[in-house]
Amino acid sequence: MQPAVFWTREDKSILCKLCLRRCKITKAGFCKVRIVKDSKLYTKNYLKFQLEEKSVEECNLFHFKPFTKSIEISSIGYNFPKSYKNVKEIKKYTTEKLLSEIRKIKAENVVFSFEPIIYFESFYKVVKFIFREGLNNIFSSNCYFPSQLAKIIGKYCSVALINIYSSLSEKYYKEELNVENIKPIIKTSLALKKQGMHLEFVNYVTKYGNYKDDLRKFCDFIVETFGSSVPLTLISFDNFYPQELSELKIIAEESGLRYVYVPEINEINTYCYNCKQLLIDRENKIINLEGDRCPNCGARIDIIL
Ligand code: SF4
Repeated sequence: MQPAVFWTREDKSILCKLCLRRCKITKAGFCKVRIVKDSKLYTKNYLKFQLEEKSVEECNLFHFKPFTKSIEISSIGYNFPKSYKNVKEIKKYTTEKLLSEIRKIKAENVVFSFEPIIYFESFYKVVKFIFREGLNNIFSSNCYFPSQLAKIIGKYCSVALINIYSSLSEKYYKEELNVENIKPIIKTSLALKKQGMHLEFVNYVTKYGNYKDDLRKFCDFIVETFGSSVPLTLISFDNFYPQELSELKIIAEESGLRYVYVPEINEINTYCYNCKQLLIDRENKIINLEGDRCPNCGARIDIIL
């Protein structure tokens, strides 16, 4: 086990300050990977990863280096009671072994996913190493952690993929995710933006409560706070028929969002928000852009090529 960071001693327990759950621990934290031993906090998942080779689009990123190869890194432990991912197989890696796996498949991007904060000690060691190798580091997170960490993350990662559940419904977060206050999640997302990172959102949509209204409110909020050019990907976290997902896409676009993707119904192409010209045909792997502009009307498209 590896000594953990960001904790203090409090009477007979240990207060973990790594994420906003702020567990008072005598044995194990909520995430089950941070353990108290001899009055100190340790982490069980140090450099233990599951690696998956994916295209950048399979990682739900649609405006960053289209068609490039990525390695998605995940590990055990999560700070929400529900999760969008089930990590099945983890192995211990050294940074050199990890790099050789990345080189083997010629990946350009390393996606620190599910949930990099909960394996922060490993993330910090690996991200610095990968950064020096000149690869693109992508931070994919639920943002349930103190905003102060954004500075460290922004130093080594150029992209933040923010994973939201049920359109950030306060009721859903309270009742289903045991999160009393969603404001710190917004604060942390803004702090990542302030670092100059390229931002994209994933919304794991549910049928909880007034989910269509919640989606509308959430998209309005994204447009007001982060701008209409921030890409949003919708992924079903409940059973949705294709027609229902199409309706959700329309709702999101009605808020003014320019780029809404729904991979489950093959809504993965990029169109010009101004003249509707097809710009990125993902089935045929064709990019039809002049620099970062639409070749038809000249509108500037927020995308990193
Ligand atoms: S969930 Fe894990 S990382 Fe978060 S405060 Fe609790 S022990 Fe720390």
